[in-house]
Amino acid sequence: MENHLVIYNTLTREKEAFIPLHPPFVGLYVCGPTVYSDAHLGHARPAITFDLLYRYLTHLGYSVRYVRNITDVGHLENDADEGEDKIEKKARIEHLEPMEVVQKYMNTYHRNMDQLNVLPPSIEPRASGHIIEQQEFVKRILNSGYAYEVNGSVYFDVVKYSRNNSYGKLSGRVLEELIAGSRDLEGAEEKRNPFDFALWKKASPDHLMRWPSPWGEGYPGWHLECSTMSVKYLGEVFDIHGGGIDLLFPHHECEIAQSSAAMGKESVRYWMHNNMITINGQKMARSLGNFITLDQLFSGNHPALEKPYSPMTIRFFILQAHYRSTVDFSNDALRAAEKGLQRLFKGMDTLKKLKPSDTSSFDTAELRRKCYESLDDDLNSPVLLSYLFDGVKHINSVNDGSETLTSDDIVSLKELYDTFVYKILGLKEESSAAGSDKLTRELIEMIISLRQAAREKKDWQTSDKIRADLRKAGIILKDTNEGVNWEFE
Ligand code: ZN
Repeated sequence: MENHLVIYNTLTREKEAFIPLHPPFVGLYVCGPTVYSDAHLGHARPAITFDLLYRYLTHLGYSVRYVRNITDVGHLENDADEGEDKIEKKARIEHLEPMEVVQKYMNTYHRNMDQLNVLPPSIEPRASGHIIEQQEFVKRILNSGYAYEVNGSVYFDVVKYSRNNSYGKLSGRVLEELIAGSRDLEGAEEKRNPFDFALWKKASPDHLMRWPSPWGEGYPGWHLECSTMSVKYLGEVFDIHGGGIDLLFPHHECEIAQSSAAMGKESVRYWMHNNMITINGQKMARSLGNFITLDQLFSGNHPALEKPYSPMTIRFFILQAHYRSTVDFSNDALRAAEKGLQRLFKGMDTLKKLKPSDTSSFDTAELRRKCYESLDDDLNSPVLLSYLFDGVKHINSVNDGSETLTSDDIVSLKELYDTFVYKILGLKEESSAAGSDKLTRELIEMIISLRQAAREKKDWQTSDKIRADLRKAGIILKDTNEGVNWEFE
């Protein structure tokens, strides 16, 4: 299968032609959330970035097996294998079983992803469901000589690994600098070097999530699950591994080390990382009071928000930036995105009503070519959107008579917009009025009262036309003894 897709590989720091290992199959692994709190803006960006990639590869004709994991054990509070498990800590605060915490926030995450029109992955494996596989992986690393057991825990030996491999190649970190910069942490005396990382941790007596193992009762280290589950579902070598740039180090660096140590080769052919979201120029953090969950964004229920923003506004806003650039959220920027999205959909509405001419005054094939070119260039969604907006300008000119299109070109343009806007960018028109938009509700009530007036004058033709037109707009009227009820389809 042929494609012209070029993607920026974080590992080689170059744009590379995308050539899958076993076309038409593509293996895609993306690090999913640690489910211990409500999904927030930081979750939306990787989800939407890799949803775009998944949709585009599928559109190009590939059979994509998209694996996005759920971390439900082993993610500790800091990267030096110290501190409490994030999920266990939440369970203690909320007086819940750790798996209740997992279920609760996983449900929220799935609901939010649905609202953002993010397609579910093909497989969504959980770390706690792959304990045996992770233990087998630890055994392979132990056999390779790159790990050691101390007092019921197993650590990866970074210094030994570095003698034959380049630890830091993905993140660009240098081992000597890591050694110089490492702090003395409690419990670090178990490790041969402070930056060695845990593959398996011995459970302290009060630790809740624990499993028997050849090294005693314990739990897996966070980095291990992704090496284990990607190989299990995508094979020892697979095409694309994605995630947020905050995972570059140590998480993905450790994944490379684990897979290379266990299998003697690297698993991942293309590494892709999305950049971060800032809020009014600042990093998003609970301590700065700018930590906004997706539910708060959609409801407007946060002091930093001037109004609610719909899921499609958020999706459009994220797609307006290239995934490797930072995105800064502000009320002004979100309102601009909201307007932009409306302009795009309005253009598509106008397109449906255009009257054809004998000739076309602009080249729709050229527009199509540019749309594909922009996504082929490392998923350049902002450039794609700028071409789609160029198209909207032409559509408006055809509508007001200053340009022309043949009926064939109108059909082809409709197909182009449906494909790129709905299928690939995953944007959809929202019935934001479904209970929340006051203006829309008032307008519907006003139209219904006009229909009532027509009925009273026995003007059945007008009354029926209003009912039929509302039906077309997705609003269903029900005449009852108490009057007229209406609902969205
Ligand atoms: Zn991961």
